[in-house]
Amino acid sequence: MISEKVVKAINEQINMEYASAYIYLNMSIEMDNQAFRGYAKWLFAQYEEELEHAEKFLGFLQTRGAVPVLKDIKVPALEAKTPLDVAKAAYAHEMKVSASIDRIAELASKEGDRASNAFLMWFINEQVEEEESTRDIVDMFEFAGDDKAVLFEIDRRLGEREED
Ligand code: MG
Repeated sequence: MISEKVVKAINEQINMEYASAYIYLNMSIEMDNQAFRGYAKWLFAQYEEELEHAEKFLGFLQTRGAVPVLKDIKVPALEAKTPLDVAKAAYAHEMKVSASIDRIAELASKEGDRASNAFLMWFINEQVEEEESTRDIVDMFEFAGDDKAVLFEIDRRLGEREED
């Protein structure tokens, strides 16, 4: 049995994952506009991954016999302008997502809901990777500074991201 509290928390997480997709799509558009095509491609792949995350949560609720409820997604304001700012915003965002998933896991534990905990473990591990990959990009752009040749090389490498 899945409790109403856990259903509500997962529904909110579905919204957060779709909102994350929108955030990354917005970042991708901005980076493409600034001719950082490699980073734009990386961010677009991230957008697609966030859609998959949302679908995973959604499918889990259905498997447990609960009905997912979709909520509005706001168009994100993009204050980050440079690739470094975008990278920092992405890293900060992933830490927020990790904290949110941790809170659901805590709630599931309190409710004695082991099935939800087992399911959430995949996301807890996934967030470790998400934090690492977004933090790596911050480091790379920080290292590059204003060096156009290095920025170009980083952008090229980011564009080589494999689809997961
Ligand atoms: Mg996600």
